[in-house]
Amino acid sequence: MRFIETRGNDGKKPASVTFSEAILSPSASFGGLYVPESLPDLGISFLNKHLSSSYKTLAMDFLETFGIDIDKETIQAALDRYDAFDDPQNPVPLSEIEQDCCVAELYHGPTRAFKDMALQPFGYILSKLAEKRNEHYLIMAATSGDTGPATLETFKNQPNVKVACLYPDGGTSDVQRLQMVTEDAPNLKVIGVKGNFDDTQNTLKSLLASEDFKAELEARNIKLSAANSVNFGRIIFQIIYHIHSYLEMVRCGKITMGEKIYLVVPSGNFGNALGGYYAKKAGLPVEKILISSNANNILTDWINKGEYDLNGRELIMTESPAMDILKSSNIERVMYDKFGAERTKELMEALASEGKFVLSDAERASLQEDFAASWSDDTLCEAEIAHYVKKGYMMDPHTATCIKAYETLRSETLPTVIYSTAEWTKFSPTVAKALGHPVEGDVEALKWVSAHANVKVPEMINNLFNKPVVHTVVVEKEKIKEEMLGFL
Ligand SMILES: *Cc1c(COP(=O)(O)O)cnc(C)c1O
Repeated sequence: MRFIETRGNDGKKPASVTFSEAILSPSASFGGLYVPESLPDLGISFLNKHLSSSYKTLAMDFLETFGIDIDKETIQAALDRYDAFDDPQNPVPLSEIEQDCCVAELYHGPTRAFKDMALQPFGYILSKLAEKRNEHYLIMAATSGDTGPATLETFKNQPNVKVACLYPDGGTSDVQRLQMVTEDAPNLKVIGVKGNFDDTQNTLKSLLASEDFKAELEARNIKLSAANSVNFGRIIFQIIYHIHSYLEMVRCGKITMGEKIYLVVPSGNFGNALGGYYAKKAGLPVEKILISSNANNILTDWINKGEYDLNGRELIMTESPAMDILKSSNIERVMYDKFGAERTKELMEALASEGKFVLSDAERASLQEDFAASWSDDTLCEAEIAHYVKKGYMMDPHTATCIKAYETLRSETLPTVIYSTAEWTKFSPTVAKALGHPVEGDVEALKWVSAHANVKVPEMINNLFNKPVVHTVVVEKEKIKEEMLGFL
């Protein structure tokens, strides 16, 4: 499988690249992204073959069918990372919440958010590639909460890769901050930035764009890569759990093989939803992918109105912060797939220069063949959390945005899978508030919710509060470069 570019080729980069090249240097011509030249046609035979496979067996066969230039031994070792999940046999368990609806829990990995599903194997592969090529990479991440811990966790003590992670001081939950500042390995650097997430992200962007920082990296023989979902190395692992969830629905008797289902995806950068779209294109029987958002509902407008307009929009801080996103990176890959490179370049350039693009009626209709969308505000999410706790199921605020999509967007009465992207323990103060008992801080909230709703707090969360803090640096934006050079 070769990889090509969403905005066409500029004549300087190669016309197509291998998987390895696409993940080591994920930026493509004209600021575009890499996408596979085609998708495998899995068909029902592939699904039948894996009806009783373990997650890792399914994943291995999928990756071999996809055809990536990574040797089998490396892929196997990367997939072995799932052995550290709660249940190595089934890293993504499904729970029934309604007679026709199951929640696929993507959060049973080491940092309790779905980022582990892709970052765990991806981190292993990237580091192995760097080692084999005798190259050194720096990965920089600005995080508002979930990407940071998952990126640090996957690369800790891995050869040939260093990770620097910037977070807004005071802008994350206690659990999220502790997951970063207690992560102890010589190749990791965590820096708190005085300011909000926007300040943090802008600081990172200007650092990455600055010529003298680039020169400093070159002098040290360090290349830059990225571990956000612009990297296809993450997307590929996000196709697999959609196939697994479908098979689980067959296995538990909710559907018969070949029957269509709906997928509901709480979305931000659209990596999770893109994985579902690719799975559908590869032949998974999916009726539609239902996209749920919070009050930052720009994806709802994109799908329902065919327009993407940043003008007059300010990022709203919600109780589902991992979805507080206005520029959603992976919609570009969907538009490339549907409208081609030339049109995608035009649309993305309009977005950059005018803050807006508008699709034609035919383009919008094409989008609506695969997607439908709705959004929920914090009040509704809290009510949904409380409602399902009464019924015996605990969900986090991101997952809670999905309930309205499940209830209102289905035009057929087909069984449905909702993706749960985080464990409630990462957002316990919100959950406590939803259950009518607002408290200060994560320690109190974890204790109260756990007792009140009779749910367990996993060891790795409880232990965070006793682990030594190793990253104590909190600095002004201007001091970041100095900190980084000290680290390198
Ligand atoms: C990252 C994240 C999302 C958004 O996923 P995308 O793939 O960026 O759309 C949703 N929920 C949680 C908890 C997350 O960490």
